[in-house]
Amino acid sequence: MFVDEAKIYVKAGDGGDGAVSFHREKYVASGGPDGGDGGKGGDVVFVVDDNMSNLIDFRYKRKYVAEKGQNGYSNNSSGRGADDLVVKVPKGTVVREAETGRILADLSDYEPVIIAHGGKGGRGNAHFATPTRQIPKFAKPGFKGEEFNLVLELKLIADVGLVGFPNVGKSTLISVVSAAKPKIANYHFTTLTPVLGVVKVDAEKSYVMADIPGLIEGASDGVGLGHEFLRHVERCRLIVHVVDASGIEGRNPIDDFEIINKELANFSEELACAPMIVAANKCDMATEEQLSELRKYIEDKGLPFFEISAATTQGTKELALAVGRALADLPPVKRFEAQPYSQAEIDEKILSDRSFEVTVEEGVYFVDADWLWDVLRSVNMEDYESLQYFQRVLRNTGIIDKLVEMGIEEGDTVSILDFEFEFVF
Ligand code: GDP
Ligand code: MG
Repeated sequence: MFVDEAKIYVKAGDGGDGAVSFHREKYVASGGPDGGDGGKGGDVVFVVDDNMSNLIDFRYKRKYVAEKGQNGYSNNSSGRGADDLVVKVPKGTVVREAETGRILADLSDYEPVIIAHGGKGGRGNAHFATPTRQIPKFAKPGFKGEEFNLVLELKLIADVGLVGFPNVGKSTLISVVSAAKPKIANYHFTTLTPVLGVVKVDAEKSYVMADIPGLIEGASDGVGLGHEFLRHVERCRLIVHVVDASGIEGRNPIDDFEIINKELANFSEELACAPMIVAANKCDMATEEQLSELRKYIEDKGLPFFEISAATTQGTKELALAVGRALADLPPVKRFEAQPYSQAEIDEKILSDRSFEVTVEEGVYFVDADWLWDVLRSVNMEDYESLQYFQRVLRNTGIIDKLVEMGIEEGDTVSILDFEFEFVF
């Protein structure tokens, strides 16, 4: 079975937790805090594997979760970072975030791509000693790894795509100009799998041709077979539109041509504008009038026109060479522009979770929230405006209300991560 779309879930590893530990040594009464940091969680990394031709593996395994980083140890030892989880995909796989449709990566070369970043490790208690709190009994949990629901879509990488009604001779054509051996039969929809063939132009030059299963009217609306295969033409630099010039199946070749073009346009504007060469096939069975009428129609549109017979190979060599020449002037195979989340956006996502926890220990109010690290990092406590900003954050996020609710009184100590201050109303 040829599968070219799959939905999966990926989650990068969470960071390891920071350790709570105190230095212990013989004859040394009580050592300081020495809990190490947690290790980084594993990334989820996508990489192209040439042994894969489609996405069928993802029908059976849909969840990909990387390991958590190791927790920190005593003696200021950091936990080990977790290994990355490598997900292999066939060349040409486009990775999208399911909810937004945003393209995270186009795996059309061999460069590995990090799709989900592992969480940073939490800080050990060694970081939290202050003059007033010499025995910090807490450490930070690791940060969460990124997670995504993904849509994987395989868009084959080919220079040329063959399109046309079923049975017009596309598979026959690719089999005579390349070494590809697709199924050929005199009934519709023999080709259920796109087939790639390498066409040699000369000793050095060659290009890749894709035999795309037949399109039928309404295919782009999901009626019948074909529209799901159009994604494999999307990257093509050139379309070879194969028309049955003989009308042997009782249809008019000009109608065929227009119907297929409409399907391409319905699928995407870009496909509608793609460079095109028309191959009038089965010309061994077509009459002179049929051929000249079709030729005039196509050439009036300014498109190159080739009379061929794939079955007898008449004109196929000329067509193959003309395609090679046309490609020389065309831009390379299309890559889909990825918009991976930037570090700032990832931080923003983490920051949008403004939940926090308050605990009271020996009269000190400990406020705990990962996002506060980022706020604190940007605050200069010596600067009045900066301090005001900090107070605003505490007020707007409900931290002050919570402290009051828990019975804080003027002059009590508030400890926010590694920062301590006296509470004033
Ligand atoms: P596809 O569905 O477009 O891939 O068409 P196929 O390549 O499977 O061909 C459909 C039928 O048309 C087969 O029976 C072929 O032998 C026949 N055919 C293909 N090319 C020609 C041609 O140039 N002349 C004639 N007479 N028959 C052809
Ligand atoms: Mg076919």
